[in-house]
Amino acid sequence: AQALLEVKNLKKYFPIKGGVLGRTIGQVKAVDDVSFAVYPGEVLGLVGESGCGKSTTGRSILRLIEPTEGQVYFEGTEITSLNEQSLRKLRRDMQIVFQDPYASLNPRHTIEKILAEPLIVHGVGSVKERRRKVHEMLEVVGLNSFHAKRYPHQFSGGQRQRIGIARALTVHPKLIVADEPVSALDVSIQSQVLNLMQDLQREFQLTYIFIAHDLSVVKHISDRVGVMYLGRLIELADKDQLYEQPKHPYTKALLSSVPSVDPDEKKDRIVLKGDVPSPASPPPGCAFHTRCPDCMEICKIERPEFKQTSDGHSVACHLY
Ligand code: SF4
Ligand code: MG
Repeated sequence: AQALLEVKNLKKYFPIKGGVLGRTIGQVKAVDDVSFAVYPGEVLGLVGESGCGKSTTGRSILRLIEPTEGQVYFEGTEITSLNEQSLRKLRRDMQIVFQDPYASLNPRHTIEKILAEPLIVHGVGSVKERRRKVHEMLEVVGLNSFHAKRYPHQFSGGQRQRIGIARALTVHPKLIVADEPVSALDVSIQSQVLNLMQDLQREFQLTYIFIAHDLSVVKHISDRVGVMYLGRLIELADKDQLYEQPKHPYTKALLSSVPSVDPDEKKDRIVLKGDVPSPASPPPGCAFHTRCPDCMEICKIERPEFKQTSDGHSVACHLY
């Protein structure tokens, strides 16, 4: 199948300013040479600890921030070089659901106004049609049309995230980047919102890039899962392969800390030494080498290429 989205050698570097003159004294390689594809109708989970570059990757794809280098193809069109006007049409097809349902809804606007905004921006429908659409979307996400006149503060966190999801859906996008959509919610609410997102994905044949910091969150919803570390994509595979036969030592460590549902299953927890190094000065060679239990001499010098090892399984590690 043709990819819906193709990301090639994506980089996003942020300058570090310092000194009395505020000169650029370094850079943070937030996203460092990341490549992957997303196919129509699939859910790609993107996982890593905070600061690994997963949100920056998502935002660079949507051009909410400008990538430093690399290409992003949406349905075959390279979009990083498009000007804002040419990008407009495509923006409708690519929506985002934000992590924080408190900060992402304008507190002074009614829900109706918030949900109608993307429709207005893209010139969809008359006032009456937009109102109908807003009411329909509220029902779709499990709220009621009478909620339309209320304000964000009158809702719980879970309800607000439903509103955030409805807002992304009003324009019938093809791709949704969901940036840790349940991380800010109570654990008891998380699975409700996850289930809703999964139902909607099927109902509207959506494609998701689903970002999370925890492998257990994306396990159920994802078809494939990618793992990031210090700005790099280090492993990407079909879900079952990744969870059952992880290859990268970092993925293995992450998985070993996910609590098992099977009490008979013995898992030895792999405890990594040290903390994640600063993305302002990532280690040379393999960025994971300072913490890797399998580190070899070559790992300290040469950056491992991200390459396919077997059908659908890609990994960046000198062991393979
Ligand atoms: Fe560990 Fe080397 Fe593989 Fe990096 S390349 S994950 S240091 S074995
Ligand atoms: Mg983030």
